Amino acid sequence: MKNKIAVIGSGFSGLSASAYLAKAGNEVHVFEKHEQPGGRARQFSTQQGYVFDMGPSWYWMPDIIESFFADFGYKISDFFELISLNPQFEMIFSQEKISVPESLGELKILFEQIEKGAGLQLEKFMRSAKFKYEVGMQDFVNKPCHNWSEFISPKITKSALRLDLLTNFRTYVAKYFKSEKLRTLMEFPVIFLGASPKHIPALYSLMNYGGYALGTHYPMGGFYQLVLAMKKVAESQGANFHFDKTVESINTDSGKVRSLTINGNIYEFDAVIASSDYHHTETLLNKEYRNYSEAYWQNRTFAPSSLIYYLGIDQTIPNLQHHTLFFENDLDEHIDSIYGEKKWPDKPLFYTCCPSKTDNTVAPHGKENLFLLMPLATGINDGEFTREKYLTEMLSRIERLTGITDLRSKIEYKRSYCASDFVSDYNAYGGNAYGLANTLGQTAVLKPKIRNKRLKNLFYTGQLTVPGPGVPPSIISGKIAANEIIKLQQEKP
Ligand SMILES: Cc1cc2nc3c(=O)[nH]c(=O)nc-3n(C[C@H](O)[C@H](O)[C@H](O)COP(=O)(O)OP(=O)(O)OC[C@H]3O[C@@H](n4cnc5c(N)ncnc54)[C@H](O)[C@@H]3O)c2cc1C
Repeated sequence: MKNKIAVIGSGFSGLSASAYLAKAGNEVHVFEKHEQPGGRARQFSTQQGYVFDMGPSWYWMPDIIESFFADFGYKISDFFELISLNPQFEMIFSQEKISVPESLGELKILFEQIEKGAGLQLEKFMRSAKFKYEVGMQDFVNKPCHNWSEFISPKITKSALRLDLLTNFRTYVAKYFKSEKLRTLMEFPVIFLGASPKHIPALYSLMNYGGYALGTHYPMGGFYQLVLAMKKVAESQGANFHFDKTVESINTDSGKVRSLTINGNIYEFDAVIASSDYHHTETLLNKEYRNYSEAYWQNRTFAPSSLIYYLGIDQTIPNLQHHTLFFENDLDEHIDSIYGEKKWPDKPLFYTCCPSKTDNTVAPHGKENLFLLMPLATGINDGEFTREKYLTEMLSRIERLTGITDLRSKIEYKRSYCASDFVSDYNAYGGNAYGLANTLGQTAVLKPKIRNKRLKNLFYTGQLTVPGPGVPPSIISGKIAANEIIKLQQEKP
């Protein structure tokens, strides 16, 4: 008999879970509060002809994403064209800039030019990062993390020391490189993991391999093409999608979830996977069935929120790459404002994505699609006046780099997005953008559990549980949660 399974939310984790559950022969229904799939990776178009991806823009670890499609007999190229960017990105310092080339060989030459011997050091760093990537992606990341015994295996024990779990990322990078610029460049990828490099285990140098060595890619048509492709895969397996449907409560009886209240109506299910933000999902349950208390969430280290601007620019912008990191100020000062003082930064760092440099479908001819992102503390007050103040700062730094004057007057479309929008759109705790930080104390078994401790047929998925934030981990998370339900079905007499 087919089980009737509900998936709450259609971000990458929900899309992934629904595809695997449907492939296993279940009747799957995905309920999404928005009118389109994708969650944090939604897309919108404007009257002027701009097409904005709302969230992710760095397409890293392409092999992990490809393996989702391979599980269903597809290839990415069946759905969209994936471009490898060259340069991958540019990092702007106060006096100079570094352009990161597509090929690792060229990156090695660049490192050597900046610091004698750094080319060889990069080779060593990447060799070790490749090892961590392979072990991490094959042996660590797919585990449900119910308990540490899952990690006891001869292979993991043998490789434990080489994984550098107990060294912090900053110390680790400093062992390889002296130049401050090279260190910042190597530290940048772990900022995605939502904490200072001082608090991230060196294991995550696997990110440097997944990015710098495997390349930075771009799906033509925008990142949203990946969302649409995954939805098509899930539908090809029989999953059903329901949009503009908000789950209002998870209803239980005799230690099991029995039904969901959706837009005021009650629907019965055999099991539920919630890909909505974990804290919010728990508020849909009576208190006695929640895995965690309010105090637990208050004590977590959340990854940052962000101030985002989606701008339509009425002319082309010279001297700007697809991805640019404006790191003219001190990284630690900005990080302190996020995790220490929890205030708006005095000297911010920010990031711009200008996909119209690669893709002429995302902006009208002769114009640019410009996305600005500045990481911020969660729970911050984000009124319009403050947002605008930081827009002015970011625009002036773009002007300095590109030589363009009066950029503000060239803006023909503008939309801002900040912490309070993450709360209202995604029910995100404190308006977090990227879930929980991957600190050592919030890794693997120490992350919020994928399984409800009291309700046997309720599971959680997404960036707040294992394996963590980011597009590839969220896709993997959906697969892990789906497998938990499939295992449960196999246990049944
Ligand atoms: C601005 C930004 C930039 C990013 N950049 C990158 C990047 O460059 N590369 C990268 O790899 N990662 C990036 N990330 C992270 C990545 O986008 C996320 O980790 C991933 O998309 C999370 O997917 P998810 O399925 O866990 O959650 P979500 O995408 O948030 O999906 C959860 C879904 O649940 C829905 N929902 C919530 N409550 C309910 C309810 N009660 N009823 C029904 N539906 C509900 C929401 O509407 C949402 O669609 C970025 C994230 C942001 C926000």
